[in-house]
Amino acid sequence: MTTPAPHAIHPTRPLRGGTPIPIVGLGVYQTPAGEPTRRAVRHALSVGYRHIDTARIYDNEEDVGRAIRESGVPREEIFVTTKLWNSDHGYDRALRACDASLRRLGLEWVDLYLVHWPVAHARRETWRAMVELKAGGKARAIGVSNFTVRHLEEVLASSDVVPQVNQIELHPFLFPRDIVAFCEKHGIVVEAYSPLTRGERLPDSRIVAVADALGQTPAQILVRWGIEHGFVSLPKSVRPKRIEENAEVFGFTIPAEHMKTLDALHEDLHTSWDPTGAP
Ligand code: NDP
Repeated sequence: MTTPAPHAIHPTRPLRGGTPIPIVGLGVYQTPAGEPTRRAVRHALSVGYRHIDTARIYDNEEDVGRAIRESGVPREEIFVTTKLWNSDHGYDRALRACDASLRRLGLEWVDLYLVHWPVAHARRETWRAMVELKAGGKARAIGVSNFTVRHLEEVLASSDVVPQVNQIELHPFLFPRDIVAFCEKHGIVVEAYSPLTRGERLPDSRIVAVADALGQTPAQILVRWGIEHGFVSLPKSVRPKRIEENAEVFGFTIPAEHMKTLDALHEDLHTSWDPTGAP
């Protein structure tokens, strides 16, 4: 396993409370369990990633944990996120779900535990459990995913503990400014999932034009766009070269005129799920 040069370790930003989160993480949704997940995670860690984003529903927590152990990188240097699935909502279930994820990962704690989806009937009780998981040290930070402003307002109204993160689909073609502004106002770090539009819009001529102008690839432009906005970006790939490419985004910036072009591409394109109508 190669050892990355110190400058290759990805920069971090602080979550509310100070915990640093690396601003690029490897996503492993739809990365097949077994060797494909282990290979992707080991490769990412070997080239400087220090942040892995998994979930119970991705069915590869065991492989993420095993790859972390195989990597030789000390546990405390790696930021590991997993998520509570919809069938695990409710106070007791949520506590048990976290224990089960930790068991599968083979870890004593996760760095971030997220409520994957705003399930209507039980999410308040679930949040109470999340707060307890943080207090007990099983999750160093807690947050939510796919929460709209309405869902976030409900959490803030029912608890003194503000989510540290909201993970949502985010790229120039889906730029929900209302959610981003709300999160910024309340000190909630925004994570961009499906930042590459699942590959759908990488060939878009307007993305390619910015990429060509800056001598970068379309994928690098989409990841860097998120960083320019202060988001944490979670590109997924199973291919070593792409895993490297997607994180080679710290040697350039996107000038204001190109950011303006990219920011104007919003068309409400959901390539994953759309939580807008979630009750
Ligand atoms: P991404 O936007 O990251 O796109 C992944 C797709 O793009 C794959 O098909 C991949 O193929 C391809 N790809 C990756 N890099 C490149 C490249 N440099 N050039 C061309 N194609 C490329 O999609 P995801 O939906 O996977 O989102 C990323 C992560 O976000 C997930 O893995 C997960 O961790 C998180 N997520 C969270 C959700 C939530 O509800 N909280 C929902 C969805 C995602 P290949 O692998 O073959 O390289």
